[in-house]
Amino acid sequence: MSESTTSTQIFRAIDVIRKKRDGGELSRFEIESLVAAYTQGSIPDYQVSAWLMAGVRRGMTRGETAALTDAMLRSGEVLDLSAIATRKVDKHSTGGVGDKTSLVLAPLAAVAGVTVPMISGRGLGHTGGTRDKLEAIPGFKVNLPLPEFRRVLETCGCAMIGQTAEIAPADRKLYALRDVTGTVESPYLICASIMSKKLAEGIDALVLDVKTGSGAFMKSEKDAEFLAELMVETGERMGKRTVALITDMDQPLGNMIGNALEVVEVIDILRGGGPPDLRDLCLELAGWMLHLGGVSKTVAEGKQESAKLIASGKALDRFRQMVELHGGDPRVVDDPKGLPQARHAWQVLCAKNGYLASLQCEQIGTACVILGGGRERKEDSVDPTVGIVLHKKVGDRVSAAEPLATIYYNSESRVARARQLLEESCQIGDAPPTKKRPLIHRVIGKPGEN
Ligand code: URA
Repeated sequence: MSESTTSTQIFRAIDVIRKKRDGGELSRFEIESLVAAYTQGSIPDYQVSAWLMAGVRRGMTRGETAALTDAMLRSGEVLDLSAIATRKVDKHSTGGVGDKTSLVLAPLAAVAGVTVPMISGRGLGHTGGTRDKLEAIPGFKVNLPLPEFRRVLETCGCAMIGQTAEIAPADRKLYALRDVTGTVESPYLICASIMSKKLAEGIDALVLDVKTGSGAFMKSEKDAEFLAELMVETGERMGKRTVALITDMDQPLGNMIGNALEVVEVIDILRGGGPPDLRDLCLELAGWMLHLGGVSKTVAEGKQESAKLIASGKALDRFRQMVELHGGDPRVVDDPKGLPQARHAWQVLCAKNGYLASLQCEQIGTACVILGGGRERKEDSVDPTVGIVLHKKVGDRVSAAEPLATIYYNSESRVARARQLLEESCQIGDAPPTKKRPLIHRVIGKPGEN
């Protein structure tokens, strides 16, 4: 059934699709009806796919974006965490390659005294998803019922789940559909998807990591700024202190890409090691979380405190506790060899002497999806073991026949295409790039005083 009525209005999915296709502005009633009907299962994927594509092509007004965010937020429960005395703060990224900061930040901010109720998605397009990474940990349950989610949160200060039938169910369905229908790259859809989940969490404040560069959905800084402003505006409209950091995604973050491999790198960071770009971004985002969470006066103080909590091993202990409370095997935290591993490895060798001039980051993410680390169809399951380890970053000196990357794989038929993509994505030049891109491009939002 794709029709619903109020006393004066009739909703038909086909009319809404045609109106958006022709560039019209949808009413709140039309958007609410479409979201409700899809969440309840009374309109099919193909109609919603058509509407999503029309939305990507035609864009949305501020009013449509607000209506969509509100409808998606109200599709499930909105948590009331007011019984928890400490401030509730979350962070969310717009999606990147090798971006595993959420797994570091939740236990790190929690051990500092901030409560982190985190709802995340699966991989989206060429980017990885926190939910898939967590599921690479043997036994880890990302679909805890809400009472259990609360228990974990109250016990260790952080809990990490995916969208469920109870919380953000509209995003759960729309997200899975967008992943496989080429309908991710819309600032309006991204804003509604992220903000509906985050606003359902019962948070006081939110730190957004808006990616820009060849591996981001918003490739240009201007587009990233537009998205950041849209989300900050939405957060503020809902009374949440919201800040957005525009950060670099012109090459993968850290060295490891792929679900289980990324958990290995998270553990490296929590042990005080790991690659500098990943560590620096984690500390910057943690600094903001601690500041907005009221446990540090300034962001700089929050960064210092976070570095101390990593050095003391307390953040790692909290991660282990969270893994165990989610049903995961805590032994992998001390022995990452217990994480699932691919059967084969292939090294991508450098063709000539020179410098790594650039990495086509989206292609690297796509190579990981092709290996089985992401989905081509909604019903696909991901292979947690596959992925890529980069041995060089942009600007590094390289020599002929030196390994640039290692591909971890299980299927010969998949690895050939992934290899080709990876080889094509590494540009070797005679000199290093003249301009180094900053890790943090800009901060948007005025989150006010504590
Ligand atoms: N993250 C989300 O949760 N949704 C998007 O649309 C993009 C990134």
